[in-house]
Amino acid sequence: MIAPHRDDDDIPAVTYDLDDDSVVVIIGSGAGGGTMADELTRRGIDVVLLEAGPRFKTSDFVNDEWAMNDLLTWKDKRDCTGGAPVARDYPTAPTWTCKALGGTTLHWTSMCPRPEDYEFKVRTTYSDMDGAALEDWPLDNEEMEPFYREAEIKMGVTGRNGIPFHRSSNAVRVMSLGAKRMGYRDFGPNNLAVNPLPRDGRNACDQIGFCIQGCRSGGKWSTFVSELPRAEATGRCEIRTRCMVLRIEHDERGRISGVLYADAFGDHHFQKARLVCVAANSIETTRLLLNSESSAWPDGLANGSGMLGKHYMRHVTAYMYGEFPRPVRMYRGLVAAGVIRDEARLDITRGFAGGYYYGSIGLGLPFYAAFLSPGRWGADYASWIEAYERVAGLFVNGEDMPIATNRVTLHPSEKDQHGLPIPRLNLDDHPNDLAMKRHAYRNGIAMLEAAGALRVFCSPPLPVSHNLGTCRMSEDPDAGVVDRWGRSHEIPNLFISDGSQFTSSLAGNPTLTIVTLAIRQAGYIARQMSRGEL
Ligand SMILES: Cc1cc2nc3c(=O)[nH]c(=O)nc-3n(C[C@H](O)[C@H](O)[C@H](O)COP(=O)(O)OP(=O)(O)OC[C@H]3O[C@@H](n4cnc5c(N)ncnc54)[C@H](O)[C@@H]3O)c2cc1C
Repeated sequence: MIAPHRDDDDIPAVTYDLDDDSVVVIIGSGAGGGTMADELTRRGIDVVLLEAGPRFKTSDFVNDEWAMNDLLTWKDKRDCTGGAPVARDYPTAPTWTCKALGGTTLHWTSMCPRPEDYEFKVRTTYSDMDGAALEDWPLDNEEMEPFYREAEIKMGVTGRNGIPFHRSSNAVRVMSLGAKRMGYRDFGPNNLAVNPLPRDGRNACDQIGFCIQGCRSGGKWSTFVSELPRAEATGRCEIRTRCMVLRIEHDERGRISGVLYADAFGDHHFQKARLVCVAANSIETTRLLLNSESSAWPDGLANGSGMLGKHYMRHVTAYMYGEFPRPVRMYRGLVAAGVIRDEARLDITRGFAGGYYYGSIGLGLPFYAAFLSPGRWGADYASWIEAYERVAGLFVNGEDMPIATNRVTLHPSEKDQHGLPIPRLNLDDHPNDLAMKRHAYRNGIAMLEAAGALRVFCSPPLPVSHNLGTCRMSEDPDAGVVDRWGRSHEIPNLFISDGSQFTSSLAGNPTLTIVTLAIRQAGYIARQMSRGEL
């Protein structure tokens, strides 16, 4: 039987039979899933990609933050408990991801830092830390280096591999002045996956700002503009949009046999598969595996270790805004145009392990006003909105600690539109996270003041945009869910292809590493398939 295609926007170049068990099924089309589709199809492997969200066109994107939030953002209900500020401020929407073809690469601001060597070896480097379940990654920077390079070239990361940086903006100038006066040395334009010049079939960035809404010029890298069209053009990739995977099934030998999904009309279908790559972004990947429990895996598919859902990480984040005497207009140009790397180092004399980055941030007025301080009002708050033209922003992104009780579980009673339990997230801050945040606020405030700010406002964290660690990679099968290739320790034809695999969160933003791991994983799958071992 052929799977029905009733999505008017979706005109696949190829269709695969639901009973075709030779195909690789990819769940999710964002950084992980989109990259897998491209990398597997270019190696001649047939792919069915199932994406819960719709397929948009670039012309659907408008420079209006809330309109695009409504269009692109994953809005199915989630639940959040715990003592972290996000649990208080956003109890039913603690995370910020997309539900659309291209996934959260439509929203992302494209910062691409590379990790230092020690970041892959946190257990060895930080030794025992109370309350943190540290593990070393079963790989290192030396092994990852060629794949990072490949990912950077694929994504067109500025400042690397001969790709020039973007020209500066006021936001970068203000940040750089403060950084210089603070004695920082390693700062300037950010390494961004945004074209400064036309490249790889993508336009140059027009510097219109509003990168979070979905890029109108096509200059920003996303799987929507790069990997997915390339995969479809091979004639080996069928993309089924508005198709939500409900369960992953296995046979009596314990091998994955296929996936059950609901199409846009709520009709259910079962797609057979040779192997499955799950790239639904950490929360949904985990929920899907938990919902795919069976008599063989009663606590969730591939969860013999009991580690599934645990050690959720989301980075230490902080936001600061300074009001300056004259207009800055931080929203002009790229959203995350500048970076300071000096604090992204190992130096426990600061009172915490791990490092963090500062970046300049240029939110549009709607998001700036909404996220400045949720629930707050009054004259002081209004004066910050009034000052918008003269405000420059700084954000912080640093390594947070894996905690066993920071985890994704299934809600005991609430169900989504498909009748599946919604995910519940528990979030607490580790003392190391709090020490890092205090340090970052103290120096960030001093930096804005050094640049001439008249006053500074510290904002609480936004809904989480980096979801990591719930299917972590480990050498020891009892300490994680997947091995060094992202392959389940227990089920040979089940792969995790998104940030859930992260063993530690690393100091910088995760997507470059997600893409790097996917490139590496796809090569491994292709080699295993050609040897008949998969
Ligand atoms: C505002 C914002 C700014 C960001 N900026 C940066 C940045 O500067 N640098 C950086 O490194 N990262 C950034 N990120 C994070 C980055 O977007 C993510 O790390 C990345 O997109 C994650 O890739 P993924 O493949 O894991 O998931 P996603 O890209 O989220 O893709 C997952 C896809 O799976 C689909 N899906 C989920 N469940 C199912 C299911 N059951 N069946 C079918 N489909 C399903 C979803 O609809 C989605 O399309 C940012 C995120 C946000 C929100």
